[in-house]
Amino acid sequence: MYSKETIERFRNPKNTGEIPNADAVGEVGNMKCGDVMKIYLKVEKNKIKDIKFQTYGCMAAIASSDMLCELAKGKTLDEALNIKFSDITKGLGELPQIKIHCSVLGTHALKKAIENYKSNN
Ligand SMILES: [Zn+2]
Repeated sequence: MYSKETIERFRNPKNTGEIPNADAVGEVGNMKCGDVMKIYLKVEKNKIKDIKFQTYGCMAAIASSDMLCELAKGKTLDEALNIKFSDITKGLGELPQIKIHCSVLGTHALKKAIENYKSNN
């Protein structure tokens, strides 16, 4: 079952939306349950100044993206690259085993956004 924290974040995510003029965007999809995730970054002095996500997906995908944004905000790009899936689940509490791939998606989208940023700068 989903933890209380997961359900709460799914209902009231704090970091959803789009950043106009974002410095980088990363998008990934997952065929298994049709989740699509887009991450927007605003970068200043090599640090993530702002981060938002748009996810069309299941409860696990949305709750983990929201947690991911919170973990990534304020970190340097290299620190953010090191955020692991286990850091997200630590924040959320337990996730059902079959939903793990949904949470991993967020770390992939963030990685893609950071790589985009680095190749553009
Ligand atoms: Zn999913």
